[in-house]
Amino acid sequence: MTALLEIGALTAHYGDFQALFGVDLRLEAGETVAIIGANGAGKSTLMRSIVGIAKVSGGRVRLSGEEIQGLGAPEILIRGVSMVPEGRRLFPSLTVEENLLIGGQIRKVGGNWTLERIYELFPVLRQRRHDPSTALSGGQQQMVAIGRALMSNPRVLLCDELSLGLAPVVIKEIYAAVPTIKQSGASMIVVEQDISQALKVADRIYCLMKGRVTLSGAPKELSREAIHDAYFGVA
Ligand code: ATP
Repeated sequence: MTALLEIGALTAHYGDFQALFGVDLRLEAGETVAIIGANGAGKSTLMRSIVGIAKVSGGRVRLSGEEIQGLGAPEILIRGVSMVPEGRRLFPSLTVEENLLIGGQIRKVGGNWTLERIYELFPVLRQRRHDPSTALSGGQQQMVAIGRALMSNPRVLLCDELSLGLAPVVIKEIYAAVPTIKQSGASMIVVEQDISQALKVADRIYCLMKGRVTLSGAPKELSREAIHDAYFGVA
Protein backbone atom coordinates (compact mmCIF):
# COMPACT_ATOMS: atom_id res chain seq x y z
CA MET A 1 0.00 0.00 0.00
CA THR A 2 1.32 3.45 -0.88
CA ALA A 3 1.76 5.63 2.20
CA LEU A 4 0.46 9.19 2.25
CA LEU A 5 3.98 10.36 3.05
CA GLU A 6 7.03 8.15 2.73
CA ILE A 7 10.48 9.34 3.67
CA GLY A 8 13.38 7.13 2.73
CA ALA A 9 17.12 7.29 3.47
CA LEU A 10 16.90 11.05 4.04
CA THR A 11 20.13 12.87 4.78
CA ALA A 12 20.65 16.58 5.48
CA HIS A 13 23.74 18.69 6.08
CA TYR A 14 24.52 22.17 7.33
CA GLY A 15 27.83 22.74 5.59
CA ASP A 16 30.10 19.92 6.75
CA PHE A 17 27.85 19.05 9.67
CA GLN A 18 25.50 16.12 9.02
CA ALA A 19 22.16 16.53 10.82
CA LEU A 20 20.20 13.56 9.41
CA PHE A 21 21.60 10.11 8.64
CA GLY A 22 19.30 8.04 6.44
CA VAL A 23 15.95 8.68 8.09
CA ASP A 24 13.01 6.43 7.10
CA LEU A 25 9.47 7.34 8.12
CA ARG A 26 5.93 6.61 6.94
CA LEU A 27 2.70 8.46 7.54
CA GLU A 28 -0.48 6.66 6.52
CA ALA A 29 -3.63 8.57 5.60
CA GLY A 30 -5.59 9.41 8.75
CA GLU A 31 -2.67 8.82 11.09
CA THR A 32 -1.03 11.05 13.65
CA VAL A 33 2.65 10.32 14.00
CA ALA A 34 4.75 11.91 16.75
CA ILE A 35 8.48 12.49 16.52
CA ILE A 36 10.25 12.70 19.83
CA GLY A 37 13.87 13.36 20.65
CA ALA A 38 16.15 15.55 22.72
CA ASN A 39 17.45 18.99 21.78
CA GLY A 40 19.46 18.84 18.59
CA ALA A 41 18.25 15.36 17.60
CA GLY A 42 17.28 16.62 14.14
CA LYS A 43 13.49 16.89 14.51
CA SER A 44 13.19 20.41 13.09
CA THR A 45 15.64 19.61 10.31
CA LEU A 46 13.46 16.64 9.34
CA MET A 47 10.31 18.80 9.28
CA ARG A 48 12.06 21.54 7.31
CA SER A 49 13.41 18.97 4.85
CA ILE A 50 9.91 17.65 4.16
CA VAL A 51 8.53 21.10 3.31
CA GLY A 52 11.53 22.02 1.17
CA ILE A 53 13.19 24.67 3.33
CA ALA A 54 16.19 22.68 4.61
CA LYS A 55 18.87 21.48 2.29
CA VAL A 56 18.45 17.77 1.69
CA SER A 57 21.62 15.98 0.64
CA GLY A 58 20.10 12.60 -0.23
CA GLY A 59 17.07 10.35 -0.05
CA ARG A 60 13.42 10.70 -0.98
CA VAL A 61 10.18 12.25 0.20
CA ARG A 62 7.11 10.86 -1.52
CA LEU A 63 3.57 12.13 -1.23
CA SER A 64 1.05 9.48 -2.32
CA GLY A 65 3.90 7.83 -4.20
CA GLU A 66 5.00 10.98 -6.00
CA GLU A 67 8.47 12.42 -5.38
CA ILE A 68 8.29 15.91 -3.85
CA GLN A 69 11.86 16.21 -2.61
CA GLY A 70 13.58 19.02 -4.52
CA LEU A 71 10.36 20.63 -5.77
CA GLY A 72 10.73 23.79 -3.68
CA ALA A 73 8.60 25.05 -0.83
CA PRO A 74 5.70 26.71 -2.75
CA GLU A 75 5.17 23.64 -4.96
CA ILE A 76 5.19 21.34 -1.91
CA LEU A 77 2.62 23.61 -0.23
CA ILE A 78 0.35 23.51 -3.29
CA ARG A 79 0.47 19.71 -3.15
CA GLY A 80 -0.80 19.83 0.40
CA VAL A 81 2.10 19.65 2.85
CA SER A 82 2.20 22.51 5.30
CA MET A 83 4.01 23.27 8.54
CA VAL A 84 3.47 25.02 11.85
CA PRO A 85 7.08 26.06 12.50
CA GLU A 86 8.89 25.93 15.81
CA GLY A 87 8.51 29.32 17.51
CA ARG A 88 5.38 30.11 15.42
CA ARG A 89 7.13 32.63 13.18
CA LEU A 90 4.14 34.93 12.86
CA PHE A 91 4.49 38.18 10.94
CA PRO A 92 4.79 40.61 13.87
CA SER A 93 3.69 43.73 11.99
CA LEU A 94 0.46 42.08 10.80
CA THR A 95 -2.84 41.46 12.53
CA VAL A 96 -4.16 38.04 13.43
CA GLU A 97 -6.44 38.03 10.38
CA GLU A 98 -3.68 39.18 8.03
CA ASN A 99 -1.45 36.36 9.29
CA LEU A 100 -4.22 33.87 8.60
CA LEU A 101 -4.88 35.26 5.12
CA ILE A 102 -1.21 34.95 4.21
CA GLY A 103 -1.49 31.25 4.93
CA GLY A 104 -4.18 30.99 2.28
CA GLN A 105 -2.23 32.71 -0.47
CA ILE A 106 -0.68 29.49 -1.68
CA ARG A 107 -3.07 26.64 -1.17
CA LYS A 108 -4.08 23.26 -2.38
CA VAL A 109 -7.22 23.33 -4.47
CA GLY A 110 -10.13 21.26 -3.25
CA GLY A 111 -9.83 21.91 0.49
CA ASN A 112 -12.33 23.93 2.42
CA TRP A 113 -10.51 25.81 5.16
CA THR A 114 -11.69 29.43 5.39
CA LEU A 115 -11.24 32.24 7.90
CA GLU A 116 -14.70 31.39 9.22
CA ARG A 117 -13.73 27.78 9.91
CA ILE A 118 -10.52 28.84 11.63
CA TYR A 119 -12.56 31.15 13.86
CA GLU A 120 -14.94 28.28 14.66
CA LEU A 121 -11.94 26.14 15.60
CA PHE A 122 -10.36 28.87 17.75
CA PRO A 123 -13.12 31.34 18.73
CA VAL A 124 -10.72 33.61 20.61
CA LEU A 125 -9.04 34.48 17.30
CA ARG A 126 -12.29 35.98 16.00
CA GLN A 127 -12.35 38.34 18.99
CA ARG A 128 -8.70 39.24 18.45
CA ARG A 129 -8.73 39.31 14.65
CA HIS A 130 -7.81 42.99 14.26
CA ASP A 131 -5.11 42.94 16.95
CA PRO A 132 -1.43 42.73 16.08
CA SER A 133 -0.31 39.12 16.40
CA THR A 134 2.32 40.20 18.94
CA ALA A 135 -0.43 41.36 21.34
CA LEU A 136 -1.65 37.77 21.80
CA SER A 137 -0.60 35.28 24.47
CA GLY A 138 1.76 32.45 23.51
CA GLY A 139 -1.10 29.97 23.24
CA GLN A 140 -3.18 32.30 21.09
CA GLN A 141 -0.17 32.90 18.83
CA GLN A 142 0.18 29.15 18.47
CA MET A 143 -3.48 29.03 17.38
CA VAL A 144 -2.74 31.65 14.72
CA ALA A 145 0.24 29.62 13.50
CA ILE A 146 -1.94 26.50 13.26
CA GLY A 147 -4.72 28.45 11.53
CA ARG A 148 -2.27 29.96 9.07
CA ALA A 149 -0.98 26.48 8.15
CA LEU A 150 -4.54 25.13 7.80
CA MET A 151 -5.49 27.93 5.40
CA SER A 152 -3.37 26.17 2.75
CA ASN A 153 -5.68 23.11 2.94
CA PRO A 154 -3.04 20.57 3.94
CA ARG A 155 -3.29 16.80 3.47
CA VAL A 156 -0.23 16.57 5.71
CA LEU A 157 0.16 19.01 8.59
CA LEU A 158 3.56 19.11 10.27
CA CYS A 159 3.58 20.66 13.74
CA ASP A 160 6.95 21.51 15.26
CA GLU A 161 6.84 21.72 19.07
CA LEU A 162 3.27 22.92 19.56
CA SER A 163 3.52 22.72 23.32
CA LEU A 164 6.89 24.41 23.81
CA GLY A 165 6.72 27.09 26.51
CA LEU A 166 2.96 26.75 27.07
CA ALA A 167 1.11 25.96 30.30
CA PRO A 168 -0.52 22.50 30.54
CA VAL A 169 -4.03 23.95 30.33
CA VAL A 170 -3.13 25.81 27.12
CA ILE A 171 -1.49 22.72 25.63
CA LYS A 172 -4.73 20.86 26.28
CA GLU A 173 -6.71 23.58 24.53
CA ILE A 174 -4.41 23.49 21.49
CA TYR A 175 -4.49 19.69 21.22
CA ALA A 176 -8.29 19.74 21.54
CA ALA A 177 -8.29 21.05 17.94
CA VAL A 178 -6.64 17.89 16.60
CA PRO A 179 -9.86 15.84 15.99
CA THR A 180 -11.38 18.69 13.93
CA ILE A 181 -8.16 19.08 11.96
CA LYS A 182 -8.17 15.36 11.22
CA GLN A 183 -11.82 15.42 10.20
CA SER A 184 -10.87 18.02 7.59
CA GLY A 185 -8.80 15.31 5.92
CA ALA A 186 -5.35 16.25 7.21
CA SER A 187 -2.97 13.65 8.59
CA MET A 188 -0.45 14.92 11.09
CA ILE A 189 3.15 14.69 12.15
CA VAL A 190 3.80 16.35 15.49
CA VAL A 191 7.24 16.99 16.88
CA GLU A 192 7.24 16.89 20.66
CA GLN A 193 9.94 17.07 23.28
CA ASP A 194 7.26 16.20 25.80
CA ILE A 195 7.11 12.40 25.62
CA SER A 196 3.85 12.01 27.53
CA GLN A 197 2.09 14.47 25.22
CA ALA A 198 3.43 12.56 22.20
CA LEU A 199 2.23 9.22 23.59
CA LYS A 200 -1.21 10.70 24.24
CA VAL A 201 -1.81 12.05 20.75
CA ALA A 202 0.03 9.66 18.43
CA ASP A 203 -0.98 6.48 16.63
CA ARG A 204 2.73 5.81 16.19
CA ILE A 205 5.89 7.47 17.39
CA TYR A 206 9.42 7.74 16.04
CA CYS A 207 12.33 8.61 18.27
CA LEU A 208 15.26 10.50 16.77
CA MET A 209 18.69 10.68 18.33
CA LYS A 210 21.64 12.44 16.72
CA GLY A 211 19.98 12.37 13.31
CA ARG A 212 18.96 8.70 13.34
CA VAL A 213 15.69 6.91 14.07
CA THR A 214 16.38 4.88 17.20
CA LEU A 215 12.87 3.53 17.79
CA SER A 216 9.44 3.46 16.17
CA GLY A 217 6.10 1.86 16.90
CA ALA A 218 2.64 2.31 18.41
CA PRO A 219 2.71 3.69 21.97
CA LYS A 220 1.16 0.54 23.44
CA GLU A 221 3.86 -1.64 21.85
CA LEU A 222 6.72 0.35 23.38
CA SER A 223 7.93 0.04 26.94
CA ARG A 224 8.91 3.11 28.94
CA GLU A 225 12.39 1.67 29.19
CA ALA A 226 12.75 1.27 25.41
CA ILE A 227 11.55 4.85 24.88
CA HIS A 228 13.93 6.14 27.54
CA ASP A 229 16.89 4.34 25.94
CA ALA A 230 15.96 5.52 22.44
CA TYR A 231 15.54 9.11 23.63
CA PHE A 232 18.60 9.46 25.84
CA GLY A 233 20.81 6.66 24.54
CA VAL A 234 21.82 3.57 26.50
CA ALA A 235 24.40 4.48 29.13
P1 ATP B 1 15.44 21.38 19.07
O1 ATP B 1 14.48 20.63 19.88
O2 ATP B 1 16.50 22.05 19.88
O3 ATP B 1 14.81 22.29 18.05
P2 ATP B 1 15.89 19.45 16.97
O4 ATP B 1 15.76 18.00 17.31
O5 ATP B 1 14.77 20.09 16.27
O6 ATP B 1 16.25 20.26 18.28
P3 ATP B 1 17.51 20.48 14.85
O7 ATP B 1 17.12 21.89 15.11
O8 ATP B 1 16.99 19.80 13.65
O9 ATP B 1 17.22 19.58 16.13
O10 ATP B 1 19.10 20.44 14.83
C1 ATP B 1 19.81 19.23 14.51
C2 ATP B 1 21.31 19.55 14.51
O11 ATP B 1 21.59 20.45 13.44
C3 ATP B 1 21.77 20.24 15.79
O12 ATP B 1 23.05 19.73 16.13
C4 ATP B 1 21.87 21.70 15.40
O13 ATP B 1 22.88 22.38 16.13
C5 ATP B 1 22.22 21.63 13.92
N1 ATP B 1 21.65 22.77 13.18
C6 ATP B 1 20.35 23.11 13.09
N2 ATP B 1 20.19 24.19 12.32
C7 ATP B 1 21.42 24.57 11.91
C8 ATP B 1 21.94 25.62 11.09
N3 ATP B 1 21.12 26.52 10.52
N4 ATP B 1 23.27 25.67 10.90
C9 ATP B 1 24.10 24.76 11.46
N5 ATP B 1 23.70 23.73 12.23
C10 ATP B 1 22.38 23.64 12.47
